[in-house]
Amino acid sequence: MLIDSHCHPNSEALRQDARGLMDRARDAGVGRFLIVGCDLDDSREAVDMAHQFTGYGTWAAVGIHPHEAARYDAASLPQALRDLAGDGCVAALGEIGLDYYYDHSPRETQRKFFEMQLAWAAEENKPVVLHIRDAMPDALAILRDFAGKVPLLFHCYSGGLEFLDEVLDMGGLCALGGAVTWKNSHELREVAVRLPADRLLLETDCPYMAPVPFRGKTNEPAYVRYVYETVAKVRGVSEDELAAQIERNAAAFFGWGEGELPHV
Ligand SMILES: [Zn+2]
Ligand SMILES: [Zn+2]
Repeated sequence: MLIDSHCHPNSEALRQDARGLMDRARDAGVGRFLIVGCDLDDSREAVDMAHQFTGYGTWAAVGIHPHEAARYDAASLPQALRDLAGDGCVAALGEIGLDYYYDHSPRETQRKFFEMQLAWAAEENKPVVLHIRDAMPDALAILRDFAGKVPLLFHCYSGGLEFLDEVLDMGGLCALGGAVTWKNSHELREVAVRLPADRLLLETDCPYMAPVPFRGKTNEPAYVRYVYETVAKVRGVSEDELAAQIERNAAAFFGWGEGELPHV
């Protein structure tokens, strides 16, 4: 079974054809999906979709992305978002983090929301899906207080070899996506080789980050198989062996149990 540990079928670009893309993913062997929210409405939609497509193996993550943080009152998290975390299909909080590449929200606001949501994850006893871009030193400084209390998944890991040891010391997992297949991503493939087998997850982040041979096109969960193909090749393992390892890693991290039927 393949797993797309980070996808946005709830996004504007994909939602129209959600049923079609879930069918194509199932045909490609994808049996688990984490549908990720980026703001309150998007998170609500992630939860709705996880229920709508439960038979396909869907779960949801809810949270406020650093891009969207400035749209909310920084005094506290919206109660409606907190309520969503109690839904049985919510396996993680996210995506949360810091993005200093786009700076869509002021950095101070991003850090505030990041800390609030990490504290929330500790209270809820849920793992977090991290979005960190061009902000590893600040992110790690904040995460040090939560390591060991909150399971950490560095989605679309872009910290390179420079930050890998510290991420691993914190017990973090790294999720690699389409970028690992791109021609110039030599360092990311080196990361894929160096990651301990039990710290690795794979994802699409669709509709973005399409792997070769679809680079630049709209991504979808079925294409996660190209990520598996590349990572199996560089690690020198069979695709079946890699798939079995990823299935164990995801089950342990998200707490959804290997082979178990999804929530209902
Ligand atoms: Zn992200
Ligand atoms: Zn994402």
